[in-house]
Amino acid sequence: MLLSLLAQARNIAFIYALVGKNMENFVVSARKYRPSTFDAVVGQAHITDTLKNAIRSKQLAQAFLFCGPRGVGKTTCARILAKTINCENLTTDIEPCNECGSCKTFNTGNSLNINELDAASNNSVEDIRNLIEQVRYPPQGGAKKKVYIIDEVHMLSNQAFNAFLKTLEEPPSYAIFILATTEKHKIIPTILSRCQIFDFNRIQPKDVAHHLEKIAQKEGIEAEQEALQLIGMKADGALRDALSMFDLMVTFSQNRKLEYKSVAENLNILDYDYYFKVVDSFLAEDRSAALLLFDEILRKGFDGHHFILGLCKHLRDLLVCQDATTLTLLEVSDTIRKKYQQQAQAATPSFLLSALSLASSCEQGYKNSKDQRLQIEIALLKLASLKQVFSVQSLLDDVKKKVSS
Ligand SMILES: [Zn+2]
Repeated sequence: MLLSLLAQARNIAFIYALVGKNMENFVVSARKYRPSTFDAVVGQAHITDTLKNAIRSKQLAQAFLFCGPRGVGKTTCARILAKTINCENLTTDIEPCNECGSCKTFNTGNSLNINELDAASNNSVEDIRNLIEQVRYPPQGGAKKKVYIIDEVHMLSNQAFNAFLKTLEEPPSYAIFILATTEKHKIIPTILSRCQIFDFNRIQPKDVAHHLEKIAQKEGIEAEQEALQLIGMKADGALRDALSMFDLMVTFSQNRKLEYKSVAENLNILDYDYYFKVVDSFLAEDRSAALLLFDEILRKGFDGHHFILGLCKHLRDLLVCQDATTLTLLEVSDTIRKKYQQQAQAATPSFLLSALSLASSCEQGYKNSKDQRLQIEIALLKLASLKQVFSVQSLLDDVKKKVSS
């Protein structure tokens, strides 16, 4: 684990050194491609549609609570909402025009009608009092609403929470509060009951990859689909993280070309090729190949637990491949899909199911094992002998049939 962390830190330090060279005209993608309309928000249609409907029917709540993991678009949606309700020229599709005076001041970050407080660093009762003080002044420049966004609201001190509660109970008609948090369970019930709650999703890897693909096209970057998928998976649902990774990988790449191989190496991800090879060794009952491959993986600095988890996922993906109805559950690009299908066809469902069960019990016992390497090696040896077990079983079945007939 330590080794892989070190490798990652080294890569990132190197990338930053490279980025530094072109720093003058470098705008990070997360900022450059921040959505400015509801439709541009990735993977949260259930929220943007509801907000649009509320604006359309003029039934907008006065307090919202946006919950969800980091980097999934909570603050972005809050800002778009603030801009949309003040836009002088809403489109028929309930999107901000981005051209009127109000939209322009929002887009340049100069609007007096939006106030943001990051409760992670400003959580004292004074900070909240300053905010409450501002709520007394109506919106400026003919705008309809004044919007207050409090990020990481669960970080507010108890005192600050209490001071805020009074304002939240009786807000002036022009004030709208949008509270955002990554930890909904830490929000006290009195606040929860006063807010309309929206749960943001983790963004699906394929949606992330699709979004990155569009950015790559705009930036004239050639990117392999698999490379973008990999970034999507590594980002684990957080688009902001995916965009930062994308920037780093582009800087690190040669001739602005993103290739699967180099992205896997730089993100320190176990290449799926390893899993294809290791399953091939199980199917060929080649025990030494399986052990040697695992040794190679460890020597490259990967963590054993990481490997066994990945193996479970790979076996699950192969199982999913065997049935046309579950094929949609496989989140990979078309070229990789073919590889999965080929390997899935080479194995029987009962082989894959038993392999998955063996790998998963190895994974469960991994943390408590005194010799973790041995724990995995035993599992690999069993997996590479699995076919034999099945052939003995079918032989027995045949004998039984013959005896009984
Ligand atoms: Zn506008």
